[in-house]
Amino acid sequence: MDMSPQMAAEELLRRKHLPQDWKWCLVRGKDAFGQGTSADPLDTDTTLRKVKTRHHRQTGIGLITGEASGGIVAVDIDGLDDGHFGPPASEWLLKEKLGDAYPDSNDTMSWRGRPGRRQLLYQIPLSVRPLVEGFTKKEMFPVLEGSSEEVKVRYKGCYSVIPGSIHPGTKKPYEWLNYNEGQVAIAPGWLIDFMLAHVEKPKEHSSFIPQSFYERQDASTDFTYRQMRRHFFMEGGLLEKLLDTEGAFEAVYNAEVWDYQPLQVENAEKRTLVGGCPFHDSSSGTSFTIWSDKLNWYCHKEEVGGDALRLLHALRERDINAGDPKPVDLQTYLQEIADVVGVRYPEDFKEVQKTQEVKKYDPIEGPSLLQVARDIIDKFPNPAEQDLELLQLANDYGVRKDADQIRLLLQDDEDFKRSGDTLDFQARQALITGTDWLIPDVLKRPSTVLLHGDGGCGKSLACQVLAKHIGEGIPFKVRGAEMPVKSGPVLWCNADQSLETLEEQLEAQGIQNAPWFHVFHDFRLRHVQRLASKIKKLKPALVIIDSLAASQPTVDGNKQIVSAPLYWLEANNGVAFPKCTFVVIHHNNKQGGFRGHSSIRDAVSETWSISKPTDAEMEANEWGEDTFRRRKIVIGKSRSGREGDSLITYLHEDFTMDLEDFTPTQRPRPGGSVSVYDRVHTVIRECTEVGKPLRRDELTIRVNADGGRKASESAIRKSIQRLETRELIASVVSEEQKRTDGRREKAYIAKTADGVKLFKALLSASRGETHDDFCPIGKEPSEGQGNRMGQPNGTANGTANGTAQRTPENESSDSVCDDLNQTRLDRCTHAEWDKQKGVPFENPVMESDLSNGTSTEENRKIASPGKTMGAPIDKTKLMKKPLT
Ligand SMILES: [Zn+2]
Repeated sequence: MDMSPQMAAEELLRRKHLPQDWKWCLVRGKDAFGQGTSADPLDTDTTLRKVKTRHHRQTGIGLITGEASGGIVAVDIDGLDDGHFGPPASEWLLKEKLGDAYPDSNDTMSWRGRPGRRQLLYQIPLSVRPLVEGFTKKEMFPVLEGSSEEVKVRYKGCYSVIPGSIHPGTKKPYEWLNYNEGQVAIAPGWLIDFMLAHVEKPKEHSSFIPQSFYERQDASTDFTYRQMRRHFFMEGGLLEKLLDTEGAFEAVYNAEVWDYQPLQVENAEKRTLVGGCPFHDSSSGTSFTIWSDKLNWYCHKEEVGGDALRLLHALRERDINAGDPKPVDLQTYLQEIADVVGVRYPEDFKEVQKTQEVKKYDPIEGPSLLQVARDIIDKFPNPAEQDLELLQLANDYGVRKDADQIRLLLQDDEDFKRSGDTLDFQARQALITGTDWLIPDVLKRPSTVLLHGDGGCGKSLACQVLAKHIGEGIPFKVRGAEMPVKSGPVLWCNADQSLETLEEQLEAQGIQNAPWFHVFHDFRLRHVQRLASKIKKLKPALVIIDSLAASQPTVDGNKQIVSAPLYWLEANNGVAFPKCTFVVIHHNNKQGGFRGHSSIRDAVSETWSISKPTDAEMEANEWGEDTFRRRKIVIGKSRSGREGDSLITYLHEDFTMDLEDFTPTQRPRPGGSVSVYDRVHTVIRECTEVGKPLRRDELTIRVNADGGRKASESAIRKSIQRLETRELIASVVSEEQKRTDGRREKAYIAKTADGVKLFKALLSASRGETHDDFCPIGKEPSEGQGNRMGQPNGTANGTANGTAQRTPENESSDSVCDDLNQTRLDRCTHAEWDKQKGVPFENPVMESDLSNGTSTEENRKIASPGKTMGAPIDKTKLMKKPLT
């Protein structure tokens, strides 16, 4: 008795004769026309609403096969119309293939559009659906292709016109072969085999694993779930290794049942293995199928299957329905497999992970591009890696910039931030990292000096001499007087010369064995982070970069990017690494200016141009005796207002070189006058020479007695401040409160070698020692002796009456480089002035001491005692020359 509901297609839906959760499309004849598609199928309610309007002129309804309708697969067996010429080829091919498994239409729900054809519906078990997700449709018998017959399996992206719809050929409704009480049978093994063997794009992961699960990472796992699955399934991954390693499968996938119901090759072409099921007892020992290429599996009896990881988990849990392993279990499995196939997990997969990571930089959730770029530059000091990361970043953020352009953006950003705010006093103080001078008024720290000149004019040599002064603490001649320098290690960043040449030059200067001299060979300026870490380690006072072009061989010097590392060093000096002075050697262009992009000038604190004397200058010995052996360095741009100041070198016959400041103490200005600044400096120097600290009021008298224009009090006060800042002079303070305003009286000493001597003498006097009995500087006794201002005098004999005056620079904190002012190596130091307690100043110069009409010229002669440090420079000439 035919129990199948004979009615129009929409009535089957309306009367709920078919599962309510199936999905549909409207059809005209056999064709869907966009009212419901595989990608956007209609649910039953929507379908009935659309059918009601009738304006679509549909002739029936199609059942969407595949995932959308719960894993429904249609097997279309189309024979000839009536079978007059014997059984259709399609049917007998199927029968021959399947034998006992040949499907009867009574097995499951089935229908047909015309005689001789039938459509069988099956449902793919839930556990297998992920494995066949990619299956669309496929002819089972290639021999039928091109004929009017077919045995076609339709799944994803397909639909099947249901009974009650009108067939376009017969104009009659599709009819039921077997309604099967509205039930669809589970897909038989042969169908699942066929589909698994013909999945178009096998997927690495199961779509039934929730998205959130993929991102899961237990505290105990090194990777997310998704990443671990990829390590297993990817090309060259653990699964592939497992299958390629003899005995590995048996070692990992072990089940007792396979000892007596072993897995055997069922179909060599499809690489299917069949054996006993580890999860249920079976007499046949053939209910369990494994596809040996991916280890997908299926139990025909229990109608459960899955991928290789589910099988492993099921075996370990002894539960066919164990499902997917938890992340921590998965990691254990992967480690076990890795052991068997001879790799390490997760160690060997870290690199893979790095390159396999699809998206590293997230523009939606992640921080700003500039922030990430900054992190990248910090994290990847290797410029090749850095470039790649920056390119990836630009790509992920959808920005069309190359790595250099991103670095320039960062530079702009830093410039903008630095220049954007107005700063009050406190903010300014906070920004000051503490400036001092390695060589007073010559080499400031922190700063960047660009030393440029023609090839062969002695740039490297001049830098080696500077290095020697700093490294060995040799006093440097500034304004004609020996002045102490701050000594410290020197780092030579070499890119321009062979080690042999450099070694020769160092030998010539006698510094080849110097412990303070460090060479960074094959230096590359772009590795700024590496340079910064070297500086952190060595704490050099002076860093020479030889040269700007040679240390950036791949950078176009005419592009702005050439100066980017200099900007970075300038901006981070004393912040990201201990403060130091950079001297960057650079080449001239043909016009005598420095070569390359103009931004180089902006990136440095000072530019120094080194040049040879002209023939006329040599002839007249204008730069001193043997002018032909000399080079002159003239300061171009200066952030310290030192434009036009100069230095001079002298190359001895033995190839050692001397270098000294060539700037006169009194620099004439247009019209011939001399600045109050220079006059104050001169007067203080003169008094220091004769062993007298100069009091403030005495200073005014002397300055105004030099025959120049009357100097205002404020001009003198500001000049003193500036001289102190530049470390050309130092102040000492008396504890006696002579002045009515309660402030202690100050006196000034030039920071020359003579000044150091004077200071030591005053210091020992304050301790009740004789002037000849010098107290070692920087040692314990003096540390503990002095008193802070306003505190009772604590020295034993009570004769001390002075306290130290620290200069503002030294007061300012400098956490990065507290130990930079070390004095151990200093031969001629002024550390006492910076750090130590005070001294009394004796023998004050009174107005009566001055001879009437003392001329500046005479005083200067006193101030230039003609001591030499080896350079046969004619002092008088040097000092006079700029005045004439
Ligand atoms: Zn089983």
